Amino acid sequence: MDFKIEVTDAAQTYDLGMKLATYLEPKDLILLDGDLGAGKTTFTKGLAKGLGIDRNIKSPTFTIIREYQDGRIPLYHMDAYRLEDGGADELGLDEYFNGDGLNVVEWSQFIDEDLPKNYLRIVFTRQDDKGDDFRQLEFKPQGERFTEIAKQVVTQNG
Ligand code: ADP
Ligand code: MG
Repeated sequence: MDFKIEVTDAAQTYDLGMKLATYLEPKDLILLDGDLGAGKTTFTKGLAKGLGIDRNIKSPTFTIIREYQDGRIPLYHMDAYRLEDGGADELGLDEYFNGDGLNVVEWSQFIDEDLPKNYLRIVFTRQDDKGDDFRQLEFKPQGERFTEIAKQVVTQNG
C-alpha cells in the first residue's frame, strides 16, 4: 500500500518528521530516498526534534553514521551514499538494526540487499511545474506495523 503527502515548504516536511517520531520505537527503521536536496535531512531534523533531541542534526555524508543519545530513544542517522559493496557488513549495520534506537537511513537504495524485512520507506520527489519548495512524500511501508503508522501519519495530515 502506498500513501502520498504533498507539501509546499520545508517547514511542512520538518513537521511531518516530528509527527512520525511520536509513533517510533527502538529497532524501527526509516528509509529516506530521493535526490540531493529532496528533503531527507530536513525530515530527519524534524524526527530528531520529535524525539526531544536538542543537538543540531548534520548530514552524515562523510561520517556515514551519526549518533544522538539525548532524546526519548537514541537516533542513529546514516547516509548510505558512500558505502561500497560490503560496507554495510563492515559498519555492523545489523547491530544497529537490532539495537536500542531508531535507525534512519538516507540513500537506502545503496544497501537494498542488506535491509531487514520491515521498514518504512519514504520517497521524496519534486515536480518541475509545482515550484522550488514543493515535495511529494510517498510512504512505502513494509510490514503491518509500519503500514499502520503510515496510515496514521497520512490521515492525521489530511
Ligand atoms: P537531502 O538530505 O535530501 O539532500 P536536505 O534536507 O539537506 O535534502 O535539503 C533540502 C533543501 O531544500 C533545504 O535547503 C530545504 O530548505 C529546501 N526545501 C525547500 N522546500 C522543501 C520542502 N518542501 N521539504 C524539504 N526541504 C525543502
Ligand atoms: Mg541529506
